[in-house]
Amino acid sequence: MEFVKVLKISRYLDPSHNFTETEWHSEIRYDPLTGHSTRILDFPIREVKKADISAVVESSQKFCPFCPEVIELVTPKFHPDLVDQERYAKGEALCVPNAFPYDENGAVTVMTRSHYLGLSEFTPENISNALSCCVSYLQDVYRRQKDMIYQSVNWNYMPLAGGSIIHPHLQIMASSSPTNYYVDLLSSLDRYRQATERDFWPDLVQEEHRLAERLISRTEEMTWLVAFAPMGIFDVIGVLNHVRYPWELAGQTLDQLAEGIVSVMRYIDSLNMSSLNMSLYFLLDNGLFTPHVRICPRVSIPPYDTSQINYMWMLHRETLTIVKPEEACVSIRSVWENTHMTGDPSSTP
Ligand SMILES: [Zn+2]
Repeated sequence: MEFVKVLKISRYLDPSHNFTETEWHSEIRYDPLTGHSTRILDFPIREVKKADISAVVESSQKFCPFCPEVIELVTPKFHPDLVDQERYAKGEALCVPNAFPYDENGAVTVMTRSHYLGLSEFTPENISNALSCCVSYLQDVYRRQKDMIYQSVNWNYMPLAGGSIIHPHLQIMASSSPTNYYVDLLSSLDRYRQATERDFWPDLVQEEHRLAERLISRTEEMTWLVAFAPMGIFDVIGVLNHVRYPWELAGQTLDQLAEGIVSVMRYIDSLNMSSLNMSLYFLLDNGLFTPHVRICPRVSIPPYDTSQINYMWMLHRETLTIVKPEEACVSIRSVWENTHMTGDPSSTP
């Protein structure tokens, strides 16, 4: 497995230094599986100011379809031809059909009774209950629709990350049509197997463990690491070492997944960032694919709230970041150790 970096130097005559020569350094990194490239720029990191979202939270509360007073009245119920239950509930979480689906099987899991929680206010219990609802739904879909093998649980947290409703909710897809992510991964996994007669995911875990530059934590159930060639500002990957089907997410594995997600959210919050995208990917009946989660924070760039997504991603499909994955990993580890070693009182039922 290769972690390929190409170093680039750009030169110009700098007006702020009497037009003497100045150099800017950047790296192009290639994903060890897909070969997709990411650019890591050596720009100074500007401190992000915490966004004031109180006005958005307040105005969105005037009518919210996911608040407990109305959710049972205004959200749809699942069609009895498709799944066994009208809705799926656990703790505060409730899974209902997505009223605006992207595919034939779309659902949302409303995660909390609270209309708004800041990133650091979610507990592992909030996350594990919500994921439990999602996987019960996915299991039921698969019982009656065996071709719905591309299953994922996704999160656009807050409008900056594409969330159109403030009230915390996950979006679930179960489809017979892969997204481009699956297509790219599958052809790359197949190529890796043919070239090495080995599986990529266990090799990745082993190699990241050996290098110890981007590994956050490793247990029997889960491995957490920072992606070498990130899909966002930074990109935390949690690999579910032994899970094959969504409904195998239970017990220790589910607890570790929920605690890990909460730790990443606390780290993002500690950077004054308030938004993220998350996807938890499954591919059923395919031995090459190991289920995994990816979490990337989202920001806008001061002073004009400029979108972080410009032509490079929209039209060239190239990620730009100024954060070195190895440096992000050191900082995440310190938050991780606090949460996981001292224990989090709020996670105790
Ligand atoms: Zn609400």
